[in-house]
Amino acid sequence: STGDIKILLLENVNTAAIQIFKEQGYQVDFYKSSLPEEDLIEKIKDVHAIGIRSKTKLTANVLQHARNLVVIGCFCIGTNQVDLDYAANMGVAVFNSPFSNSRSVAELVIAEIISLARQLGDRSIELHTGTWNKVSARCWEIRGKTLGIIGYGHIGSQLSVLAEAMGMHVIYYDIVTIMALGTAKQVSTLDELLNKSDFVSLHVPETSETKNMLSFPQFAAMKDGAYVINASRGTVVDIPALVQAMQAGKIAGAALDVYPNEPGKNGANTYNDDLNSWTSQLVSLPNVILTPHIGGSTEEAQSAIGIEVAHSLSKYINEGNSVGSVNFPEVSLRSLDFDQENTVRVLYIHRNVPGVLKTVNNILSSHNIEKQFSDSNGDIAYLIADISQVNQSDIKNIYDELNQTSAKISIRLLY
Ligand code: NAD
Repeated sequence: STGDIKILLLENVNTAAIQIFKEQGYQVDFYKSSLPEEDLIEKIKDVHAIGIRSKTKLTANVLQHARNLVVIGCFCIGTNQVDLDYAANMGVAVFNSPFSNSRSVAELVIAEIISLARQLGDRSIELHTGTWNKVSARCWEIRGKTLGIIGYGHIGSQLSVLAEAMGMHVIYYDIVTIMALGTAKQVSTLDELLNKSDFVSLHVPETSETKNMLSFPQFAAMKDGAYVINASRGTVVDIPALVQAMQAGKIAGAALDVYPNEPGKNGANTYNDDLNSWTSQLVSLPNVILTPHIGGSTEEAQSAIGIEVAHSLSKYINEGNSVGSVNFPEVSLRSLDFDQENTVRVLYIHRNVPGVLKTVNNILSSHNIEKQFSDSNGDIAYLIADISQVNQSDIKNIYDELNQTSAKISIRLLY
């Protein structure tokens, strides 16, 4: 029953999440900070679920002590603090929240488009240091200008809608064909986008193909006086090439939120840091807005993360639905009607080896299988089946027989 579910929440995960877990009837153990490793090992022994942010390291050494763990929730974007393969091989699904802050990023980019067009950053710095400098030369309205969006995913498409609402023309380039929102138009090459855009904003993931996606040839292909905005990943823009294009007057302004090497903590001094040699060149250029990776940093995004991850965990605990998991086969079946008696949902996580489904279906097929779905991801596979017309002793037999299958990693029966 859900009242038996114990969940450990660390690192002050958002209160919206705690509320959702309490409504589910789970026993919630909440801590504002992360725990020292020995305490974490002690606590993780009994819990069914754990919610963390970036500071808690769920290594193999920690996870091996988790006897009852079913699911891990990362209440953030990144998941590299968790040993994902080790967790999958224990039958533990991991969830995160990659898209809760899309809107926050898109809004920041809108602000930056106007700020660059009006040289807002420079005017503000000047007046902060006591200089009144009222200029209109090379300051523009954004109405009627063309915004080129590279990567039309969650953020790029939100940005598209906001930009059109302010009277911009939107074109976009993506490796897949994506339906245009509003009157935006997809172009077939990056060069075409660069040729036509007054503003270029990047919203692609970090991959080998997107590394230095904007470098010397791409800046050369851009319109004279164009602007560049990068709030995607720091590897996507070749900073020396950007600096050169700006010094040459080709690029009239740039807003960067992400960098090839980002300091790990607040307060770090980027001037005296070899990894961040970019700062000295960038800070000396006019109309460059530099922000410390704050694109997704809003109160709204934080609570959206809390809600999204809490829902993913509850759906996985209560129904076995693994859609959105980062380390696991993605399986979902319509919710089980728990009021209906004599029905059981079988959640069978197993090694992805030949012959397993034959063995499993031999066990299940003497009962009435209402629905069944399975999927694999690398070495791990996951089957959900709803079985009706079973009594308590059938349920026990199903469990015992599945438990003896050699490919089994873990089993849960929901009834
Ligand atoms: P997404 O996965 O929804 O969209 C990415 C899009 O890029 C997809 O449509 C994909 O097809 C396209 N794409 C991939 N490779 C491409 C290529 N080589 N050429 C052209 N298009 C390509 O991602 P998203 O949620 O919109 O995030 C976009 C970026 O923003 C990611 O890098 C993400 O890490 C970053 N991000 C930054 C912040 C921040 O705080 N600044 C916050 C959230 C996300």
